[in-house]
Amino acid sequence: MRKVQLSDRLQAVADYVSPQARLADIGSDHAYLPAYLIQAGQIDWALAGEVAQGPLDNVKQEISRQGLNGKLIPRLANGLAAINPSDQVDTVTIAGMGGVLISQILAAAPQPLPYQHLILQPNTDVATVRDWLIQHGFKIDGEQMVQEGRHFYEVLSAVPGAQELSDRQLAFGPYLLEEQGLAFRAFWQHKLSQIEQILNRLEQAQQTQTATYQDWQNRHQEIQEVLSYGKRTEAN
Ligand code: SAM
Repeated sequence: MRKVQLSDRLQAVADYVSPQARLADIGSDHAYLPAYLIQAGQIDWALAGEVAQGPLDNVKQEISRQGLNGKLIPRLANGLAAINPSDQVDTVTIAGMGGVLISQILAAAPQPLPYQHLILQPNTDVATVRDWLIQHGFKIDGEQMVQEGRHFYEVLSAVPGAQELSDRQLAFGPYLLEEQGLAFRAFWQHKLSQIEQILNRLEQAQQTQTATYQDWQNRHQEIQEVLSYGKRTEAN
């Protein structure tokens, strides 16, 4: 039996899963995350939900390769419809999809969601996911930014509760903003250079008097403010 090795991205998701959680991993594809967690003894049981037959076949292959029959349950279903009340799932992970799709998957189920812990890793539109969470009875209780080569990933942990977030906290993440770790700063530095290239192109095209130019300038300024705030905190 080959041990499952997680990428840093999926490891960051795994690190938020509480010991003995009843886990549903939605959009599981190869089911690396739940297979790893069961192998590691962090949990005893999980279900892997998949909307498409091909990825579900990958899940089934992984189950037999790792000898996880009866411990890791494959289920073909759209989103949270994979979960039955009798499964007594308390923790849901959704990783590796766009933030809009993750929000749609969460919104498509009857509300309020009956889970104690959501761990989400949106590849894009992370602010949309943060906003969905706080509008639907969840509060973010932890965040991580992970760098894998040239790619950056954000992982959100949320539990039932109330939370208010400013626009800046929605965009940058309340915890990430406060902590300003290396990956966070590298990601937003990279964004700054991308915006500078856009501003240069607009300047060359004599488009500086447009709403688009102003918009990019405002974004640039906000990121600069955030990063300089982080520098001050480091110095203190
Ligand atoms: N979660 C794994 C990871 O992070 O490495 C796999 C991510 S893979 C890019 C996204 C998977 O989500 C695909 O296998 C896709 O079939 C599945 N998916 C997309 N929409 C879904 C939905 N509504 N319900 C369940 N699975 C879905």
